[in-house]
Amino acid sequence: MSNGPIARTVGFQPGERNVFLHLLTACNLACRHCYINPTQHGTATLPLATVLQWLKLFARPERQTNLILLGGEPTLHPELAAIIKAAKSMRYSVTVDTNGYLFNDLLAKVTPQELDYLSFSLDGPDVAVNDPIRGQGVFAVCTDNIRKAVAGGFATSLIYTVSSLNIKHLHRMPALLADLGVRRFFIQVIGLRGNPAITKPAATINWQVEPEQWLAVVPRVAEEAARMGIHVIYPKVYLDHDEPFQCAGIVAENFFIFPNGRVYQCPLCEDHPIHSYCIEDNQLLHRDGLNEDRFFPLNIAEGCVMNRLLQPDNISYHPDGTPIHRISCCLLKQEVKPVHS
Ligand code: SF4
Ligand code: SF4
Repeated sequence: MSNGPIARTVGFQPGERNVFLHLLTACNLACRHCYINPTQHGTATLPLATVLQWLKLFARPERQTNLILLGGEPTLHPELAAIIKAAKSMRYSVTVDTNGYLFNDLLAKVTPQELDYLSFSLDGPDVAVNDPIRGQGVFAVCTDNIRKAVAGGFATSLIYTVSSLNIKHLHRMPALLADLGVRRFFIQVIGLRGNPAITKPAATINWQVEPEQWLAVVPRVAEEAARMGIHVIYPKVYLDHDEPFQCAGIVAENFFIFPNGRVYQCPLCEDHPIHSYCIEDNQLLHRDGLNEDRFFPLNIAEGCVMNRLLQPDNISYHPDGTPIHRISCCLLKQEVKPVHS
C-alpha cells in the first residue's frame, strides 16, 4: 500500500513573485459570484503596446516570476497570443485564467511551450450544478475546450470556487478531472466581494461556507483527488494553533494590476481605492497615504487584518471574546501532491 496523501501548508518563499494582470474587465459571462467591479477596476481593454510596457515594469528575468493573465475573460483580448509570447520572452512563467470559451482561436495561436498553464474555471461537476452559477451552456463549452487543450498538449488546471451553492458537489470533481485529463486542481473559497457582497444584505443567497463544513469537506476531497494523480491546491483559511501568521503584503511580492492602473498587493482590498501602487505614464508609483500597506504590519488576534476589517462575518468568537479560528492570509495555500502508487 502506498502512503496516503499529505496536506502541507505552502509557506511564502523568499523572493516569490506573482503578477496578476487584468487585461480587461469585459466578459461574455455573468457569473453570479463575479468579483469584477468596473467602477473600481475600469472598463478599458489594455492596448498591446501598454501591456508590453507594463510587463516590462514587473519583469525580473533573474527571478522566478509568475504572470497570471486575467480579465474579465482574457481570451476576449484580440492580442492575447502576442502578449503571451512577449511575456515568455521576458522570462515570465505564464498562466491564462479562462472561463473556458477560448475566444480568438487561442489554442491555434500559441504552443504548449509558450503557455505554462491554461487554467479553466468550472463551479460544478455537471450542468445542473455549474450552469445555474456560471450560465446556461457553460459546462458543455468549458469541458469541450478542456478536452481540446489537453489533446493539444497544453498543461491545464481547473479552478473551482466553493460556495454554499456547490460545496456538496465538490466530491464529484476528482473523477471529472481525471476523465478530462486535468492534472492540477485549485479549490478556492468565495470571497464576500463584488456580487456576493452586494446580495448578502438582501439575504437572498448566503454564499459563505461555514468553517466546519469547509474543514470537513475540502481536505478530504483534496486527498481523494491526490490519490487519482491530481495535484491539489487550496487556501489555508484557518490557521492551526501552532502555525505562525504571515501577511503576504510583507513577506511576498504579489501585484494585482487593473486596466485603470491600480496596483494592489492584497486581493481583499480590490473593491476599495486603497491600492499601494499605481501605474501612471507607464511608471510604477508608490502611493502615500492611508492605503493597504499601512495595515499589513498590524498584529491582531484574528490573523489577517483586512479580513477582520472587510469580512468580519468570517470570524466567530468564544464567549470570552477570543477568536475561535485565526484567519490566514488569503494567499496562503495548502497543497496535496499527487500520490502515485
Ligand atoms: S467568467 Fe470571471 S469575469 Fe466573467 S463573469 Fe464569470 S467570474 Fe466574472
Ligand atoms: S489577505 Fe490579509 S494577510 Fe494576506 S496580504 Fe491581505 S492583509 Fe495581508
